[in-house]
Amino acid sequence: MQKLTVHAGFTCPNRDGTVSAGGCTFCNNEGFSPSYCDPSKPIHVQIEEGLTFVRNRYPRANRFVAYFQTYSNTYAPLPRLKEIYGEALRHPAISGLVIGTRPDCVDEEKLDYLAWLARKYFIKIEYGLESCYDDSLKRVNRGHTFRRSEEAIAMTAKKKLFTGIHLIIGLPGETRSQMLAQVDTINRLPIQAIKLHQLQIVKDTPMAIEYEQNPDAFALFDLEEYVDFVVAFLERLRPDIAIDRFSGEIPPRLITGKRWGMIRSDAVIRMVEDKMNALDTYQGRLK
Ligand code: SF4
Repeated sequence: MQKLTVHAGFTCPNRDGTVSAGGCTFCNNEGFSPSYCDPSKPIHVQIEEGLTFVRNRYPRANRFVAYFQTYSNTYAPLPRLKEIYGEALRHPAISGLVIGTRPDCVDEEKLDYLAWLARKYFIKIEYGLESCYDDSLKRVNRGHTFRRSEEAIAMTAKKKLFTGIHLIIGLPGETRSQMLAQVDTINRLPIQAIKLHQLQIVKDTPMAIEYEQNPDAFALFDLEEYVDFVVAFLERLRPDIAIDRFSGEIPPRLITGKRWGMIRSDAVIRMVEDKMNALDTYQGRLK
């Protein structure tokens, strides 16, 4: 089963002035969307074009889920969400939805609707947690607290929805031991999946300006250091939590500061596996 990214033209309360107008300091969504994701095209057209792209890249894929990735994909009134999700689910190749959003963009009514869809389709909701520390969230202008994430995750778990989180490893102000200590907090959350993403400083973001002015405030990971960190993190992570992603894959041309070159995520996964085999360790060993 393969995810197929679609762009429904949502925005985000941290950009439209509802929470803030500046957005998270690391955010540049436009740089990450595949070329076929054009919000001016209807969802079913994006799916058709995406299928050509994805089938070419992943020839073994035979089932697909629509991935609402860009901006906050529950940030609209429920009738609008029903239209958008419904259009994706009506496509015969689509078996479910993965919906990325902020923890302050869900409520009981929206989650009830998703839980209803989940009776028939694979539905996953993915919260941008980014950090368990309020100081870090404030520093990157996230516009919500960790408490808000906990509440959204608890509400989602009550509806028995498949829940994932996204965590950025390497935010400024966090020490390596603080980054690692987050795993204990994460183990207590009722989640089924996690995505790890090394901090990459994307051009044309407030963080890129901050980095230019004060690079010493950022302790960016080398590739080998990051692999060691991920192994230590996994050793402490609850073994039933699926790892959706070990690292980010932003095109090097969009990154300023430390780059790993053209290394793809699957190469990072192999490095993590090799390291774990060499150490004869496994997920949850130190939990
Ligand atoms: S990272 Fe997400 S929440 Fe933050 S500004 Fe970008 S779209 Fe909004």
